[in-house]
Amino acid sequence: MESCTWSVLQNQQHNYFFISNQGRINIEQKFYHEIFNSWSEVRAVSMHSEIDNIMGQILWNNRYLQIQKKTFHWEHWACKGIMMLQDIITENGTFMNESELRKLYNIRCSFLDVLQIRECIPKEWKDAIRSQRCRQKKFNFSNDVFICDKMYNIETFKTSIIYNYLIKQKYRTPTCITKWKEIYPGFNDASEDLWPNIFKLSFKITRETKLQSFQFKIIHRLITCQKKLHEMKIVDSDICLYCAEKDDLKHFFLYCNKSHSFWNSFFKWWNNLGDIVIAPDYATLAESILFGFQSEGEIFNVINYCILLAKYYIYCQKIHNNNKIDFYQYLAHLRCKLSIEENIMYSEYKWAL
Ligand SMILES: [Zn+2]
Repeated sequence: MESCTWSVLQNQQHNYFFISNQGRINIEQKFYHEIFNSWSEVRAVSMHSEIDNIMGQILWNNRYLQIQKKTFHWEHWACKGIMMLQDIITENGTFMNESELRKLYNIRCSFLDVLQIRECIPKEWKDAIRSQRCRQKKFNFSNDVFICDKMYNIETFKTSIIYNYLIKQKYRTPTCITKWKEIYPGFNDASEDLWPNIFKLSFKITRETKLQSFQFKIIHRLITCQKKLHEMKIVDSDICLYCAEKDDLKHFFLYCNKSHSFWNSFFKWWNNLGDIVIAPDYATLAESILFGFQSEGEIFNVINYCILLAKYYIYCQKIHNNNKIDFYQYLAHLRCKLSIEENIMYSEYKWAL
């Protein structure tokens, strides 16, 4: 810590200490108030914390330690070096009495002071200290911080730990995932990586923003099929414009008459290429068409790209071209896209030289 300009600030109004390299900070400023509040949130501890965490708790302005429902700060104790709970616990895990404190820290203190502090310590912490009986180690306040119930060394501590924690706090399962799980119950038993991989897939297989956001719309169920338009009260019926079925997202991409025959031609064409043969089981293929194949390997990136472009082709034909879905037109479109990608690659290669 000597080598860096960071220093420890104590905030009088809140229940924690704050680390800063700003020198003097005007704590009254709203900006710093917000920072302090977030810091306080991050440093929140559970009542059933590990003994290390409890021993490292700051005594002053700590939300968990209150006298008459108020946090407190005893300057004359703090300036003598009494900062954390461990500073008033003996080697045997008992609370120091007034004469021990007086002798060790040369402070003015009465029996009542000691009692007040002891009484305000949560019962769970007292039990943990008692059961531990002896202190494992002494923390160096300037180097150790407790964040989200874990101890970190401030010198090796990374901002990303707090960032990830705050993101995790705000995370809510997207409603689309719940809906897809209802439609495909098999997703309930899937691995934890499945959904992150589904969301990342389009970014892995194409650089085209239009296709990436199109796949995003599919996953979030934002495609304007008749059912969606009907829910939004834009059209009177949720029946498909091209057949008599209900036009939900699955029907729109997979089961509508022309879409269905398109996919038959698609997989026949793909299987003739001979790289990997896809079993023509339409029920299981449906998930792979909507979300892509979740297998690793270049060849799966290729088929996933072809599928994504095919879905986009179906979408455009249904919305703008009166359902004129023709597999050979799609193939020409694919060829054109691949030749553009090839040219971009060569021109980037030329510039790189
Ligand atoms: Zn239809």
